[in-house]
Amino acid sequence: MTQDYVCLLGTKGGPAVRPGSSLPTSNLLCLDGQTIVVDCALGVTKGLIDQGMQLRDLSLIFISHLHSEHYLELGPLLHTSWTSGLKTQVNVYGPAGLDAYWDGFLASMKADIDLRIEDEGRPDLRDLVTFHTIDAGHVMGQGDIAVSAIRTAHPPLVDCFAFSFKTARNHIVFSGDTAPIQALEDFARGADLLIHEAMLEAALPALLERVGNGSDRLMTHWLRSHSFAHDAARTAAKAGAKRLALSHLIPSDDPTFGPKDWQEACAGHYDGELIVGRDGLRIDL
Ligand SMILES: [Zn+2]
Ligand SMILES: [Zn+2]
Repeated sequence: MTQDYVCLLGTKGGPAVRPGSSLPTSNLLCLDGQTIVVDCALGVTKGLIDQGMQLRDLSLIFISHLHSEHYLELGPLLHTSWTSGLKTQVNVYGPAGLDAYWDGFLASMKADIDLRIEDEGRPDLRDLVTFHTIDAGHVMGQGDIAVSAIRTAHPPLVDCFAFSFKTARNHIVFSGDTAPIQALEDFARGADLLIHEAMLEAALPALLERVGNGSDRLMTHWLRSHSFAHDAARTAAKAGAKRLALSHLIPSDDPTFGPKDWQEACAGHYDGELIVGRDGLRIDL
């Protein structure tokens, strides 16, 4: 039996990247020999091949919501998988509107796609990818894997989802982007691993100074649509999650703050194993 694992390919919250920056949100989940991609930010393609994945084997993708730092590289990933030999179906599950992104991507690359079909004899990329609009509840089942979703609190977006992946051996939950909500505690009940977004409260004023646009709108967005590290820790504790991995870190590129600060922010709120995410971190399940 193959080892189940999660690899945090990109762990940065927010879309901007700067020298020395980590990359936004993408994850690789390997369950029962099945590879699953959860969110497709900038860098997802490189992240997957760095983990030794053959892109032609891509088959299953989940997108939590339509903020660019969760799906900006979905089209390029699918296209590059195609030019890397993809001949089998890829199923993409995501919020309403994601199919329009795909149609737009295909339109933008039409000259290239048509050329490669004609000139290189490739199958039509348009026939290889199927989009499924998801809702809260059961999303899909495949083999031993059951996937379900709940809506999170991530205004102004309505369709933002947390995902649960359950097999006989493992229960993995991705929080998506969210303010603290009790529904997530129930959704992640007894999970083997909860991967939760997190902001470091002590670091936000300096971050606002650095990247803010002079108004308090960015801070207002953070506070109403995201969770602090200690919120994530409390959710994990209330859910009885066995392990908690912090990802979608805000900030992720301030050298003044390191893993110890994230650990300290969670101290006293959660007794399980706490993992502070970084790009490329593989967590065995
Ligand atoms: Zn985000
Ligand atoms: Zn978001």
